Amino acid sequence: QKKALIIGAGIAGIATAIRLAVKGFEVVVFEANDYAGGKLTSISKDGYRFDAGPSLFTMPQYVDELFTLAGKNPRDYFNYQKLDVVCQYFYEDGTRLTAYADEQKLANEVADKTDEPATALFKFASNSGRIYRITNHVFLERSLHRLKTYLRVDTLKSILRLLQIDALRTMHQANRSFFKDKRMVQYFDRYATYNGSNPYLAPATLNVIPHLEQHYGAWFTEGGMQAITDSLVKLAESMGVNFNYNSPVQEIIVEGRCAKGLRIKDDVIAGDLVISNMDVWFTYQKLLSKYPQLKPLRILQQERSSSALIFYWGISKQFSQLDLHNIFFSADYEAEFKHIWQEKNIGSDPTIYLNISSKYKSDDAPAGHENWFVMINVPHNTGQDWDMLINEARRNIQQKLSRLLGEDIKSLITSESILDPRSIEGKTSSYQGSLYGNSSNTQFAAFLRHSNRSAKIKNLYFCGGSVHPGGGIPLALLSAKIVADWV
Ligand code: FAD
Repeated sequence: QKKALIIGAGIAGIATAIRLAVKGFEVVVFEANDYAGGKLTSISKDGYRFDAGPSLFTMPQYVDELFTLAGKNPRDYFNYQKLDVVCQYFYEDGTRLTAYADEQKLANEVADKTDEPATALFKFASNSGRIYRITNHVFLERSLHRLKTYLRVDTLKSILRLLQIDALRTMHQANRSFFKDKRMVQYFDRYATYNGSNPYLAPATLNVIPHLEQHYGAWFTEGGMQAITDSLVKLAESMGVNFNYNSPVQEIIVEGRCAKGLRIKDDVIAGDLVISNMDVWFTYQKLLSKYPQLKPLRILQQERSSSALIFYWGISKQFSQLDLHNIFFSADYEAEFKHIWQEKNIGSDPTIYLNISSKYKSDDAPAGHENWFVMINVPHNTGQDWDMLINEARRNIQQKLSRLLGEDIKSLITSESILDPRSIEGKTSSYQGSLYGNSSNTQFAAFLRHSNRSAKIKNLYFCGGSVHPGGGIPLALLSAKIVADWV
C-alpha cells in the first residue's frame, strides 16, 4: 500500500485525504493547529458561537460527492437547506433590496426597487450561465497544466469559445453595459470580492460567480459551517485516515528531485507522495527553502488577494429586518477599492458584510441575542498599522450600522473577538493573510495559478485555495479532485 503524506487539514487537505483513501492509499495528515479545518473553523465566547471564516455555502454537491465516493450517504453525516432569501442589501440612499433565490422573484424585486427592468437581470444571468458552461469543465474541474486536458474534445470546444468568456474587459465595464442603475452595477461588482479581487481590474469572466450563487443556490448547514469540517473529518477517520494535530511540518524531504517524506520537529516521516495544503508561497519559502532554484518565481510574485477584518460581536438584541446574510454598501465603491488596492488601507466607509447564523441556528446566541459576524474587505498585510486601522474601522462600522438600522449598535455589544490579516496569516499560514491565494486582478491571473503538481519535484502535489483552480470552498474542493485524478 502506498503512503500519502498531507501537509495541512484545511478543507482541501481533508478532501484530498478522503479521495486518496478511496483510491487505496494509506493517508496521514499533519496539521500545525490543534484542530482541523484551517479557515473553516468556529470560535465560541461569552455564550455565542461564530463560524470563524467562511459563512456562505455554495455548491454543496462537491461536499456530498466525497461521501458518495466513499460509499456513504451524505445525509447520515450532515444536512443543509436552501435559502429562499440569499441576502439583504442596504444602500446608503435608503434602498433596501431582498435577493431572493427565485430568479423571477429577484427580477421583480429589482424592477420594483431600482430603475432596472427585470429583463436586464435575465440577460445578465444568461451571460453568467454561458461563462460557467464554457469554463467549468476546462478551467475549474481539470488541471490546466496537463497535456491530457487539452486533448479532450470539450476542452478544444471551450478554447474555441474563449472570446465568449468576456476576458477582455473588466467586471465593472461589463456590469455597466448590462445595467444602467448604479445600484445594480455595485450589486454585481461585489462578486469580485468572492475571490478577493477588484471589480475595476478583474476580468469580466468573474461574472461567472453570481451564477454559482443565484443558479445553484446558497445553503445553510445544520450545525453551521463548522459541520462541513466536522463531518468530513469524521468520514476521513472512518476510512482510516490518520490525523496528527500540533504537527507543523518543517521540511519536505527531497532526494534526487523526488519528494520522499517530511520533517516534523526531529522526526522524518517517509512516504510515497507528498501533498501540500499549506499556502503554496509558504510551502516554497519554508518547507523547500533548501531548493531556491526550484521556486516558480513568476507565480510566487503575483499579487495576493485581499484579506478581511472581522469583528465577532455578541449583540443583546434581535433585528427582524436582518437575515442570515446582509450587505451594507459603501456610498462610493470605486473609492473603497482604491483604498484597498492602491493606498493599501481602509476607507472611512467600507462595505459591511453582516452574517448572523443565530437566525437559523438559535443556540448560536443566548435567548433574545444575536451573534454578529461583521466583516469588511481590507488589503493583504504589508505591515500596515493594523491596531490603528482596526480602531478606526470599528468606529466607522458602528456609526454606519447605527445609522442604517436606527439603533445605537455600540451599546448593544456584549462580547468582541477580532480576526485581522495578521491573525489570518498566523493561524493558517496564508501569506500576507490573503483569503484566496492570488488575486484575479489581471486578465490571466485566474489562469496562472500554481499547478496542482510540481513540475520540478516528482511526487509533490498541491491542493487548496492558493493553487489552481482557486480560493473559496468549492474551488478548494475541486483542487482535491484534480490532485486525486492526477495521482
Ligand atoms: P486553509 O483553510 O488555509 O488550511 C490550510 C491548513 O494547513 C491550515 O489548517 C494550516 O494550519 C495548515 N498548515 C499550514 N502550514 C502547515 C505546516 N507547515 N504544517 C502543518 N499544517 C500546516 N470561502 C467560501 O467558499 N465562502 C465564504 O463565505 C468564505 N468566506 C471567507 C471568510 C474568511 C474570513 C476567510 C478567512 C475565508 C473565507 N473563504 C470563503 C475562503 C475559504 O475559507 C478558503 O478558500 C478555504 O477554506 C481554503 O481552504 P484550504 O484547504 O485551501 O486552506
